[in-house]
Amino acid sequence: MTTLPSLFISHGAPTLAVEENAFTQAWGELGRALPRPETILMVSAHWDTPSPAVSAAPQPRTIHDFHGFPGELYEVRYPAPGAPELAQRVHALLTAAGVPCDIDPARGLDHGAWVPLNRMYPDADIPVTQLSVQSQLPPSHHHAMGQALAPLRAEGVLVIGSGGIVHNLRDLDWMNRAGGGAFEWAKAFNDWIAQRLEAGALAELLDYRRGAPQPARAHPTEDHFDPFFVALGAGGLPARRLDLGFDMGSLGMDCYIFGPEK
Ligand code: ZN
Repeated sequence: MTTLPSLFISHGAPTLAVEENAFTQAWGELGRALPRPETILMVSAHWDTPSPAVSAAPQPRTIHDFHGFPGELYEVRYPAPGAPELAQRVHALLTAAGVPCDIDPARGLDHGAWVPLNRMYPDADIPVTQLSVQSQLPPSHHHAMGQALAPLRAEGVLVIGSGGIVHNLRDLDWMNRAGGGAFEWAKAFNDWIAQRLEAGALAELLDYRRGAPQPARAHPTEDHFDPFFVALGAGGLPARRLDLGFDMGSLGMDCYIFGPEK
């Protein structure tokens, strides 16, 4: 069986579920380019719990966890089967690594999971489950979780972290849609991450809160960056960058493919 890479996806705004643009095209191409996974483990920024939890729902419902968007968004369903056996495997791997993990029997798929999956795998025929992030815990915690989950890549599992490489909802420039420019501080942070990955500077990345330019502006809360560290831990370096730029000036949309190229 092919060992899969791990991915970090910047999922952007919920409206990408129904829009056609450079971001959604890139996600579709990525899904077609990768070896087909048997199951998917989604680590979404939108499931934030005090300690790790993995969903064992046999048929996860589509959660519309956003407000004030066009009605058609609330009609979108992603009816992929769940992956209860994968949930048990995740639980076993994390427990063995000394990371306590709960199993949630019912949690569905939030938009951090189904918005990109709907474009990567539109047939919704690959079983998928979710693992939560802990925004009160540091990057090292998320990186260690990813490392504990690395064996899954040889078991047909595609580990995807879904968040945002830059994510500041307070500074959105609503008129500056896909492909437009970025705020200077946002671009500086984005470039710093890309350069640190290129240099293999893992310790600096884990300490980004002290070393990166304006980290608290790029990530006022850490929930959207935590999945990045899980994906990095699971796949390891090198990282291949999909340089997708910005949406609305302050949502970095870069994706990364982690792990040795086959
Ligand atoms: Zn989000």
